[in-house]
Amino acid sequence: MMSTHTPRAYLDWNATAPLRPAARAAMIAALDHVGNPSSVHAEGRAARAVIEDARDAVAALVNARPADVVFTSGATEANASVMAGGWNTIFLAGIEHDSVLAPARVSGARLVWLPVSTDGLVDVGALANEILRGTIPLGRALVSVQLANNETGILQPVGEIAAFCRAHGVAVHTDAVQAPGRIAIDVDALGIDFLSLSAHKLGGPKGIGALVLRDGVALRSLISGGGQERRRRSGTENLPGIAGFGAAARVAALDLARTDDTARRRDYLEATLSARFPDVQVIGGTSARLANTSCIALGAKAAETLVIRYDLAGVAISAGSACSSGKVGASAVLTAMGLPAEIARAAIRVSIGPTTTDDDIAAFLAASDTILRSAAKAA
Ligand code: PMP
Repeated sequence: MMSTHTPRAYLDWNATAPLRPAARAAMIAALDHVGNPSSVHAEGRAARAVIEDARDAVAALVNARPADVVFTSGATEANASVMAGGWNTIFLAGIEHDSVLAPARVSGARLVWLPVSTDGLVDVGALANEILRGTIPLGRALVSVQLANNETGILQPVGEIAAFCRAHGVAVHTDAVQAPGRIAIDVDALGIDFLSLSAHKLGGPKGIGALVLRDGVALRSLISGGGQERRRRSGTENLPGIAGFGAAARVAALDLARTDDTARRRDYLEATLSARFPDVQVIGGTSARLANTSCIALGAKAAETLVIRYDLAGVAISAGSACSSGKVGASAVLTAMGLPAEIARAAIRVSIGPTTTDDDIAAFLAASDTILRSAAKAA
């Protein structure tokens, strides 16, 4: 049977980025390593070399020492490991990813919720006041603040927060999952203690990530056993995953030179949409944000409905709002920013990357014309 092929526009890079050819090649090569990286024989040493080469690449991406990179099954595990670190107090905000929020909630720590402005910024002044007030003993305290938000792309002043926290003996974690290849990351300059990464957001495979530690910071192992990863994360290493992560990290570092093209495409998309549909609202449009992300409220339609309509039109985007047990939800991130429920329910996310083309953007805009005009007629 003949089938007509409709080209699709993949504009959901913040959910997961396309696998980079270099990552695919490195993974395929790694599959043929017979040795266990912990074995001392030649086969084992060859497998070990693949892991250490990838570790060098991941360390270089964030200017860390290779010995401070701990491979995990992804950022969810990296975040969970940090939250389970035996803290007495954790400072955090509602814009964090669920993989930070959920383990923090069950960690037994006292949680101190930080306010977030409608521009999406964590209130650094409120954090400083809480720490300085000293009414409640903080004990071992941690602040967790993301580098860039997955729904809006809004950037947090993590370096500024870390400088203050370090001076007051409070440890700092940053979920940097959305940042590599999009903004420069330097763990030393940021002055943080823990940084979480995920390979599949930067063109590596799914199911592999890393927790990067500041020199000398101890990590309570969440998964113990054979003592791999310097006793910080047990389990025979995911060799193809790690190899793919390393290869993707090397290429992602070069993407920084291309962020102008990405910004141009994203800005064109937002400007064109706003000109055609005056009700369109760009969330975080005036905040410092990633060049690849556009969080837009398009009107009254629930975001999930829009995502399905775009999908049928051949365009992959996402909704910030989570749809659980059949109910249409509102984006927790936008709600935490204090945005009205109509916006938190209706905002969609378009996220692009270095191989996104002008045709992809045109496909989104053409689909928007059809979808939004029919929505306006139905309203
Ligand atoms: N943090 C953020 C900000 C994310 O966007 C994601 C992925 N959606 C994660 C953590 C979880 O990463 P992983 O898929 O590697 O578990």
